[in-house]
Amino acid sequence: MTPRVYLINPSHVAFGVAVITPRWLYVLAAATGHEWGDPVIVDETLERIDLNAINRGDVVGIGIHTGNARRGYEIGRAARERGAWVVYGGIHATLFPDEVFEFGAAHSVVKGDGDLIWKKAVRDCVDGKPLPLYDGGRVSGDDFIPARWDLLPESSYMWASVQTVRGCPKHCSFCSVWRTDGQEPRQRTVDKVIGEIVELRRKGFKFIALADDNFYPVTLEDLAMAGRRHDKSRLHQLQDMRQERFELMRALAGLPDDMVFFTQITMEAAEDTAFLDAMRKARIRGALIGVEAVTPEGLKDVYKGFNLAGDELIERLRTFRRHGVHVLGSFIFGLPSDREKTFEATAALAADADITFAQFVLLTPFPGTIDFEKWAAKPENQETKVDGIPVTRHWLIPQEKRPKLFTPHPTMSIEDIRVRTQLAWDQFYSWKNVWKRSNVVKSMKARVAFVLISKLYRQMYANTGIATDSARVQRSAQWARVIAKAVRRLFIAKPMPELEMPDLAPPAEQVA
Ligand code: SF4
Repeated sequence: MTPRVYLINPSHVAFGVAVITPRWLYVLAAATGHEWGDPVIVDETLERIDLNAINRGDVVGIGIHTGNARRGYEIGRAARERGAWVVYGGIHATLFPDEVFEFGAAHSVVKGDGDLIWKKAVRDCVDGKPLPLYDGGRVSGDDFIPARWDLLPESSYMWASVQTVRGCPKHCSFCSVWRTDGQEPRQRTVDKVIGEIVELRRKGFKFIALADDNFYPVTLEDLAMAGRRHDKSRLHQLQDMRQERFELMRALAGLPDDMVFFTQITMEAAEDTAFLDAMRKARIRGALIGVEAVTPEGLKDVYKGFNLAGDELIERLRTFRRHGVHVLGSFIFGLPSDREKTFEATAALAADADITFAQFVLLTPFPGTIDFEKWAAKPENQETKVDGIPVTRHWLIPQEKRPKLFTPHPTMSIEDIRVRTQLAWDQFYSWKNVWKRSNVVKSMKARVAFVLISKLYRQMYANTGIATDSARVQRSAQWARVIAKAVRRLFIAKPMPELEMPDLAPPAEQVA
């Protein structure tokens, strides 16, 4: 019997419908090739896996980040008991390759990008001789594999996701992206990105997340600094990179006009109004921006000195809105410099700055970050345990017992910070405030969609992440399941199977 290849996205909570397609599942499905038939794709944010379906000799690929590693290990152990080959990949497996053997019954681990190396790992498993480690390194933008969108299940996702660039030149202390994906941005060519988007629009996806580490990899400041160097090679390289961004946005603008895009960028893009205008023309209507903190002390805490604070911050965030880009502002609570008034000041700033969506996250030392290294090196943290597991490996602690904050705060209790964070979510997403913000769209149908997606976002991310009460988490997940189904219908368009690739040739004046 031909073995089957499984690709699994573990999750301890399922919503029946998910907002964004987990792109890596479909990229690795493409990387698997056709030798063993179509891979079986399991996204547990939709439904739990049926472990009984796994047979002896199957190859089970499990992609883990720190948040779902524990659930991933449960699946891996069960799959191995059933006689399958178990291979881990993803950011967490890259950072802790030994842990997947210790806790997840692994046969192998794939470090780094799986695009090119995954197929070899599968073949070796099928041949019965997997290597313990496959190092995929960082593949170049030209080698990123387009996803197998033909394998997407019907009616499960609201937004599709396409990657245009990997890597981020910044070095924020709470983020691991610049260390795992590197600081040198790796851009995909325009034709490959547009090819995937056209395929997705043919299937009826009109909302696309450009799932990039940082969509704005070259700032005006970077260009100015490179321009001051005697050797201009770096300047030319950055100029080419920037030019390619504009070419991509020009191509996006040529796609069907019901399409809407969303991405992640740094706040410095507000200075670059030519870039913002190109985003608006490309219908990149929203961007996740890490505001993190609203005070200079808070920004220093997270090495994000390139952000602004106070009135300048409000002005910068408003600039996005003026140029037609809505902001999903991300804020961190629990920083050493936070005080009781910081919570209210943050909520007030979010309202003043015309932010359309916001998320308020608790400072968590995630592996791969500078914050984690400093925190995990402290003997008192190594000695603190929950059920015998040191908090320096907090992802191994059962979800319901896992602390919500890990670092004692100089002036506030951890519970106080958690409650105030929950209040910030409650306030920002109150019916009154959400309805007020819904005037960013015109028709009643669009306003209803806006309200529902705002409420859904809050249920999925605030109530299932910050709440300590498991009954509340379950109720939220059930509620989210109900509205997610209704909301999805508002995001999906009529399929366009006949849609052609747009002409990607540069305009005549550019050629000349
Ligand atoms: S938080 Fe954003 S800007 Fe900072 S390193 Fe990570 S991806 Fe880059």
